[in-house]
Amino acid sequence: MNTTERRMPELLGAALIAPCGMNCGLCSAYVRDKNRCPGCNSEDEGKPKYCVVCRIKNCEELAASEENLCYSCAKFPCLRLRQLDKRYRTKYGMSMIENLEMIHALGVSEFVTREKKRWTCRQCGGLICVHKVGCLACGHVWNQAPGEAKEGNHAG
Ligand code: SF4
Ligand code: SF4
Ligand SMILES: [Zn+2]
Repeated sequence: MNTTERRMPELLGAALIAPCGMNCGLCSAYVRDKNRCPGCNSEDEGKPKYCVVCRIKNCEELAASEENLCYSCAKFPCLRLRQLDKRYRTKYGMSMIENLEMIHALGVSEFVTREKKRWTCRQCGGLICVHKVGCLACGHVWNQAPGEAKEGNHAG
């Protein structure tokens, strides 16, 4: 998939949903041209270090759970997930815990359908990156509250 395709909301897919509920397809590291991250569920090559050593991705409880998603864990939502969730709610207006609860209730396919709508720019139809205040294609500001992501600040 090339950069243009990665920035098309309709090509978001279930394979991009990380165990923590993050949609990697919305991540600035996934949609950029250089040093692109292949997403949490891919091999580690190309991922930023903070996502390779992520305490959620590497959690033993996750490895023992039925699915590769935190909602099926007996400790859900654990402290580390709540901390990540709080940071994302505060900075980016998105909740990983809500994402996981929706996946649990509706299934990942319906969740992804909703994600495609949610992260489509109303101005131009392009992809909105959760870490950027403006649409990647036209710059339309979709979220007034959060600040831009700092590098190394995406993961838990
Ligand atoms: S940097 Fe982390 S959150 Fe972003 S796409 Fe890669 S694995 Fe996903
Ligand atoms: S909810 Fe917490 S303890 Fe459970 S799998 Fe996820 S990171 Fe691990
Ligand atoms: Zn736009």
